[in-house]
Amino acid sequence: MTDVQTTLMLIDGELVEAASGKTLDSLNPATEEVIGRIPAGDKVDVDRAVVAATRAQLEWANTEISHRAERLRAVAARVAERAEEILRLEVLDTGNTITKMRGDVGMGIKVLEYYAGLGLELKGSTIPASQSNLHFSLREPYGVVGRIIPFNHPIMFALSRMAAPLMAGNAIIIKPPESSSLSAGILAEICRDELPPGLVNIITGLGTVAGDAIVRHPEVKRLAFIGSVPTGLAIQKAAAEVSVKHVSLELGGKNPMLIFPDIDPEVAATAAVSAMNFAWQGQSCGSCSRLLVHESLYDEVLKRIVEKTERLVIGDPLDPDSQMGPMNSRMQLDKVEHYVRTAHEDGARLMTGGERPPGAQFERGYWHQPTIFADVTPEMRIGHEEIFGPVLSVFRWKDEDEAIRIANSTEYGLTAAIWTNDLNAATRCIRRIKAGYVWVNGFSAHHLGTPFGGMGNSGLGREEGIEELLSYTETKTVHLALN
Ligand code: NAD
Repeated sequence: MTDVQTTLMLIDGELVEAASGKTLDSLNPATEEVIGRIPAGDKVDVDRAVVAATRAQLEWANTEISHRAERLRAVAARVAERAEEILRLEVLDTGNTITKMRGDVGMGIKVLEYYAGLGLELKGSTIPASQSNLHFSLREPYGVVGRIIPFNHPIMFALSRMAAPLMAGNAIIIKPPESSSLSAGILAEICRDELPPGLVNIITGLGTVAGDAIVRHPEVKRLAFIGSVPTGLAIQKAAAEVSVKHVSLELGGKNPMLIFPDIDPEVAATAAVSAMNFAWQGQSCGSCSRLLVHESLYDEVLKRIVEKTERLVIGDPLDPDSQMGPMNSRMQLDKVEHYVRTAHEDGARLMTGGERPPGAQFERGYWHQPTIFADVTPEMRIGHEEIFGPVLSVFRWKDEDEAIRIANSTEYGLTAAIWTNDLNAATRCIRRIKAGYVWVNGFSAHHLGTPFGGMGNSGLGREEGIEELLSYTETKTVHLALN
């Protein structure tokens, strides 16, 4: 039995309950126990936060870059001090396994420090358009940014995605995911202590209530969203009903990993299993959930993937030996079970998994075995729809054209992994594949400073790297007449 953690929101530098007094329960997905209560924020809370953010932003935008950097570093240092506490809460609340989640807190700190060092890159340019003027451009912040994040890496996204907007001189309203908001309670305390009141506001609650109120607020001109395609589309639509807004979207993926005939089957199988991110139950936008194997290696790779998957240790996510925990919520588990049923209906071949793991410890909670289906084709629902769970779909291909056709056969275009030592084949595939982030002989890793984002319905705009920083500014062009 765990203590029930009650968190508060951050509005105008104060830790507060929702104005309505309403709360939402947070469940431990491994046990279904209530482990926390979060305020159910709504439009009233969002309106207060926007007033505070608007005031705070005007002052913040007038501060020196060095001062903003110092404040971001102070937040990073406080997060580092409380890293173990944040990690434990995040693991309990998300179900993601502790060993890998340690990297999430570390990544959040690194990204805060990275953007703290990048402030002087907020440069404009001079343009020799005429001799009678000095023509130049300035980069100015949008004002108040709405930042909505998903459940799979709540603290990492909250930390890393507040850095660029703040460095660029904006204030921000963060909306954590309703199923996993507890770590945001700690972030609220840190931001209250280290940043001016109103600069960062954290509003918890339902996406369709608190999130929608942020999206529809006319004073929030810049919206940044990470989540699913349907929600991304709803946000674009709602935003457009109110005013002109700059909306950036990091959405879902159904990412292909292509295995060429020159790759050792053992290397291919190891990469394929790791690229599924079973440590967070496959709940990663960048997971390579479609494995496209050349027919010459197909049986051998498949056999080894099944062996490796069956050796994964499923268990308490707080146990450092666990390699896979429960799904994040009942909704996610239902979704996985739905797709397993469609796979059977559509004629895919189940190789392993496909159900709740056996044993008393898995009777409660949102557990699902790591699952592999072979002989998948693009027409099957598990062949082209995002599951966001521990289900790997394996395809067979004969020639490069067929591999590319399968790889590009979904609405998505987030990441892709190409496994070959043939430089010509790799280069041809890089050009032909529809994906915003491509690894050759690699997978999953995000490298600091490199832009990340999706093509097709996987998104709009790029985050990470300098592109994210600049995306929180608009250009003002100046013509200074010379007499
Ligand atoms: P989701 O779309 O259900 O919710 C994401 C966030 O949006 C949550 O905070 C939710 O409360 C909020 N929300 C829901 N409806 C809203 C509305 N109408 N208006 C405003 N906000 C609303 O996504 P999820 O289930 O939390 O996350 C999984 C999805 O996120 C997957 O599709 C995954 O691929 C995607 N994802 C993408 C990336 C990326 O970088 N491209 C990274 C992680 C996750």
